[in-house]
Amino acid sequence: MALLGKAGWSATENPAEADLIIVNSCAFIESAKRESLNAVFAWRKQYPGTKILLAGCLAQRYAAELSLSLPEADGLFGNTSLEGIAAAAAALVPDSTSGGESPPSLQTCTSFGLPLPPPPGGSAPKPPQALPGTRPLLSPPGSAYLKISEGCNNRCSFCAIPLIRGPLRSRDITGISAECRTLLDRGIRELCVIGQDIASFGDDRPDQGDLPALLEAIAAIPGHFWVRLLYLHPDRLPLSILDIMAADRRFLPYFDIPLQHASRPLLQAMNRRGDGEHYLDLIQKIRTTLPDAVIRSTFLVGFPGESEDDFAQLLDFQEQAALDWAGCFTYSREENTPAYPMKNQVPRSLAAKRKRMLEERQQGISEGRMERFVGRELEVLIEERFTNPEEGAGGLYLGRAYCQAPDVDGVSLVHSETELIPGALIRCRVNGRAGFDLRLQPTAKADG
Ligand code: SF4
Repeated sequence: MALLGKAGWSATENPAEADLIIVNSCAFIESAKRESLNAVFAWRKQYPGTKILLAGCLAQRYAAELSLSLPEADGLFGNTSLEGIAAAAAALVPDSTSGGESPPSLQTCTSFGLPLPPPPGGSAPKPPQALPGTRPLLSPPGSAYLKISEGCNNRCSFCAIPLIRGPLRSRDITGISAECRTLLDRGIRELCVIGQDIASFGDDRPDQGDLPALLEAIAAIPGHFWVRLLYLHPDRLPLSILDIMAADRRFLPYFDIPLQHASRPLLQAMNRRGDGEHYLDLIQKIRTTLPDAVIRSTFLVGFPGESEDDFAQLLDFQEQAALDWAGCFTYSREENTPAYPMKNQVPRSLAAKRKRMLEERQQGISEGRMERFVGRELEVLIEERFTNPEEGAGGLYLGRAYCQAPDVDGVSLVHSETELIPGALIRCRVNGRAGFDLRLQPTAKADG
C-alpha cells in the first residue's frame, strides 16, 4: 500500500469505484487456498469489468498453474519483489497513475515478481524492508505489526511456508529499531513482533546478533509502549529473553509458542525436536521467571500416523500445561512437503473429531485461566467503541489487555462513564468475566 500510494494510487473503501482490486492471498493450507480463490471468484462476479490482481502467497506458490487456469484474475503478483507492485498495477490499469514507471507488457494474465525459491546456488531474496514514507496501518488503533524476518529454515515436514516464503532472512537491528521509533512517533502503543519464527531471528546473520540482541535494542527506546512477541518456535526459543522481559515490563509476558503436538515420535516425524515433557519444562521455566506469563499455542491434529495413543498424549499434555489459549488445526496434505507422501494418513473426519475435542476442552481451560485476572488492575489498549456515541459520552468499549493478542484471543469489555479514545492505553480494574472475555472499568484517565 505504501508503494502504491507513492506511485499515485489511493485506496478506496468502495469497490464499485475501484480501478483495480488486489486480492492478497494465503496458500498455507487447503482451507486458506480455497478462501483466497473464492475471494477472486466473488469479486469477479460482483465487478465483472474491474481488473483483479491476485497477490501474495497463492500467486507465488501456484504461478504456473493459475496463469493457465484462473481467467477470473487479470494478473498474478508474488511476494518476493514487492517493489514491483506499482508497475504490475500500472500494467493492468495503464492510465490510472501519475506515471513514472513504464509498465511491462501484458497479455491476458501474467505474473510479476515470481518465482520463489531461488535456483540452487542463486542469491536468496531480500529480507522485508521498512519502506520509506508512511506505511498505512491496517491493524486496530494503537497497534502495529513489526515484521523482523521473512522466510523460515525450520522445515517442519507438514509446512509449505518455506516453499512459499523461502529461507530465513532477518532484517538488520538498526533498521528495526528505527521503524519502532517511527511507529511510536505515530502514536502506536503496541508493537507486535512477527516473522515466521522470531525465535530464529539473526540465525542467518551471526554478525549482528539474535532475538535477545534485538530486544535489548528495543529496550533502549524511551517511552511507554507494549512489545508483544508472536510466533516463537519452542525448540529455538532463547531462554535469555525471559530475563530481558522480566527486567523491562514493556515486553508483555505473553508467549505465542506453536507446539503442534506432545507425542515425541509424531513431533519427530514433523521434523521438530521436542516432546511433551520438554515443553512442560519450558512452560515451567517461563512461569517461574514471569509468574504473570500468558501462554498461547497451536496444535496440529491428524498428522500422518497420529494414533489414538499419540492423541491421548496430546490431551494429557493439554491438561497438564493448562495453557491460557490454544488453537487447533487439522493436518492439510500439501504437495512438495516432506509429509505429503507419508503413509497412514488420518481420515479427515477423525482429524476433525480430534480438533473438536481439543477445542472443547480448551474452552474450559481458557476460561479458568482468565479467572485469575478478576479483581486485578490491568492496562487496556482501547480498540473501538461498541455502543452508539449518541447514547452519551461513556459506554461500552472493546480493547485488549496484555493477555489478549489481536484477533485470536478473548477481548476486554470496558464499561466507561467517560469517553475513551481508541488507540489509548488506560488502566482498568477487572470486575468479572464473560466466557473468556474480561469485563473491566477504567481506574484512571487514558494516556492520550
Ligand atoms: S517453524 Fe513454522 S513456518 Fe517454519 S517450517 Fe515450521 S511450521 Fe512452517
